Order: sequence, then structure tokens, then C-alpha cells
Amino acid sequence: MKSSNSPGRTFTIFGATGSIGTQLLEILEQTPSLGRVRVLTANRRAQCLAELANTHRPDIVVLCDPSQRAELEEVLTYKPTVLVGEEALDDPSLYDSDLVINALVGFSGFMPTVRAIRAGKTVALANKESLVVGGAWLSQELQGDFSRILPVDSEHSAMWQALQGESRESIQKIIITASGGPFREWSNAQMESITPKDALKHPNWSMGAKITIDSSTLMNKGLEMIEAHWLFGLPMERIEPVVHPQSIIHSVIEFVDGSSKAQLGPPDMKVPILYALTAPHRVAYPNPTIQWQEASQWTFEPVDHDRFPCIGLAIAAQQTGGMAPAVLNAANEVAVARFLQESLSYKQIAQCVEAALDASVNEFTQTNVNDVVSYQHADHWARRYAKSWKA
Ligand code: NAD
Ligand code: MG
Repeated sequence: MKSSNSPGRTFTIFGATGSIGTQLLEILEQTPSLGRVRVLTANRRAQCLAELANTHRPDIVVLCDPSQRAELEEVLTYKPTVLVGEEALDDPSLYDSDLVINALVGFSGFMPTVRAIRAGKTVALANKESLVVGGAWLSQELQGDFSRILPVDSEHSAMWQALQGESRESIQKIIITASGGPFREWSNAQMESITPKDALKHPNWSMGAKITIDSSTLMNKGLEMIEAHWLFGLPMERIEPVVHPQSIIHSVIEFVDGSSKAQLGPPDMKVPILYALTAPHRVAYPNPTIQWQEASQWTFEPVDHDRFPCIGLAIAAQQTGGMAPAVLNAANEVAVARFLQESLSYKQIAQCVEAALDASVNEFTQTNVNDVVSYQHADHWARRYAKSWKA
């Protein structure tokens, strides 16, 4: 995968106010030699966006919620071009940077990835949902060569790092690690009464709400298996999830000669974010390191598919192909939002997604539909279905 590293390099950052966006901006603030921020976008948090803009001085600032324009402009201490409204994400001027970083959450990140790829840009992709929904379209557009998509997800960054100097043909399988989330040791009966507060407490990572819930259900690992399938060109059967509660080994590549390579480090997203900006080189940064002299244990266990059905739903959706992954993604986004609003129980997240996938079989019969509008249509259909789904 390509990347370059120079102070004159320009960045567009979609989702600047989120967990990934703010960590990326901290790195850029501390390491100005990496390049310059040209565009920042956010959904709603006008004040936070304005403060980030005041620090980084992008030429263009985009706020999707038009009702907060006045608040944004009041806090800004300089005069960038301000664009508002969701349609502003389509503006071609946003895509005119050397690197587009997509840190949006959910389906909202799909079209920015599509536009950046169409504009011939390289995308540092945190928004795994883009690949889940439209991996087949992207593969066609990129002629199977995903080197213009640089993974930001920690597991995929680990795979990418372990693959430096190796050929794709020498991969036997990928072992993708999962923390197991906060409910790893909860019984099926205990899991009946999980509250949003319980599920928002991740043992190892501090992240946005949607991915935190996805990590707790293991849907996140299912989405990441699909992400790995597209990025590294391996069939789903050769991508093996394993629970590793300490989150030190971020993933493993097993090669055809029986050797394995892994990438390790304390759980910290700044490592994969920085690597996406500098790969295949490394730049000094004071990230925490493993304390080898402290007594510790790294453990591994298989995934319990009975207590965590979401991972199996994701694998099945990818194997079905066509619109199924887009349906899975949209139904999951809605089910997670409904769980957080307490209109679904924790276990109903998986039930809602499964029901949407089952119902979609009659709705989307073509498996090779490969235009962007079809994905948007499938997304809207699954959202409507999941919003009105009742157990
Ligand atoms: P977050 O919720 O903290 O931030 C999301 C960002 O997207 C915010 O800036 C928000 O303003 C913007 N946004 C949200 N909805 C939008 C919409 N409809 N239109 C336009 N903008 C919108 O999310 P996050 O945790 O930073 O995750 C971002 C992506 O990175 C997700 O795809 C997630 O799976 C992935 N990821 C996150 C982490 C992590 O540690 N947070 C790790 C690996 C991968
Ligand atoms: Mg991950």
C-alpha cells in the first residue's frame, strides 16, 4: 500500500470531532512535519469543530448540521470557507487533498470513500463500514488492488505491518484478535439484562459509542473480518477470529511455511493512525510501549458463537454477498441506536439484524448488483425495516 510523508502534504479529515478524528489531530499538532490540514468536517459539535479549526487552520470547515452555523462562526477566530449541510460532503473541493482520512461512523462514511476513490485519491480508512457495505463496488473500481485504501483499524494495521516485505501469495491465513468485550465472562442468562451503561464500558479501548457497542456484541469483529477479506484478498474461511482479552497482539499473519508474524503494543489507536500517515516508514512519537519486565500473561480463547451471534451473522452476510452486507450494516446501526435509546434489549440487537437479513432475501434477489445507488437503496430499506422491527 502506498503512502508518503512530507510537511507540504495536505489532509482532508472527515469526522474530525470523533474519537479517531481528535486523536489524529493531536498527532498532527505534535508532529507538524507530517503535513497540513486542509479540510475538517463534523456532524454536529460546532464548538468542538471550531476549536479544532482554530488550532489547525484548515482552508475549509464543514458542518453537516446547518442549524449550528452561527455557533461555529462565532467561535472561529479566522475566516475559512464554511460549508454546511450534509450535501456539503459531496463538494469536490473537499477531495482535493493529498490524503483523505475517513473517520466517519457507519454508512455516513460510504459516499465520502466512494468519492475519494473516484477522484483518484488515497484514503486512510477508519470507517470500516465503507468496506462492509461496498467492498464489492470498491474492488471493481480499484480492479482488485486495494493499495489506495490504507487501514486505520488496529487489527488491519497490524496485518499490513506484518505483511511488509511479504507477498500476498505466501499468506496461509489471518488470525484476527478480539478483546472479547465487557461480557466475555457473562452467562447467557446474565446477558438478558445488559444495560447501555454496561455495554458502553469497554475493558481496553476508549472509542465512539457505536463501535463500543459493536465491540461488546462482537459485530465489530464480524465487520472487521469482512474488512480484512477485501483489504487482503483472502476468503472469509481463511480469516480466523480469536479472543485475546489483553489486546496486545493486534493480529497475526500465518504464512505457508508455518511461520507467523504479529504486531504488538498496548492498545492505543494513535499507533495505527500514525502508521497510516507514514507507512512504510516510522516516525518517532511517544506512544506507550509494552513493559516487558512486568509480570503479565497473554491469553487466547475461541469465540463463543452461542453467546455472541453477531459475528456469525456478519460472516453469513458476506458469504451471501450482494446487498446482504449492506443490510447487515444498516440493521445493526439502527439496532444499536435503538438499544442505546432502550427501545431494544441487548439480545434483540442480533435478533433484529437476523430478521432484516432474512427479510432481505426476498427484497434483493440479484447478488451481483454493483452500483452505488443499489447500496444506498439497500441501506434505506434495512433502516426502515429495523426501525419498525418488533420482537
Ligand atoms: P465517533 O462517533 O467518535 O466519531 C464519528 C465522527 O463522524 C464525528 O466527527 C461525527 O461528527 C461524524 N459523524 C457522525 N455521523 C455523521 C453523519 N451522519 N454525517 C456526517 N458526519 C457524521 O466515532 P469513532 O469511534 O471515531 O469511529 C469512527 C470510525 O472509525 C468508525 O467506523 C469506527 O468503526 C472506526 N474505528 C474507531 C476506532 C476507535 O478507537 N474509536 C477504532 C477502530 C476503528
Ligand atoms: Mg479494530
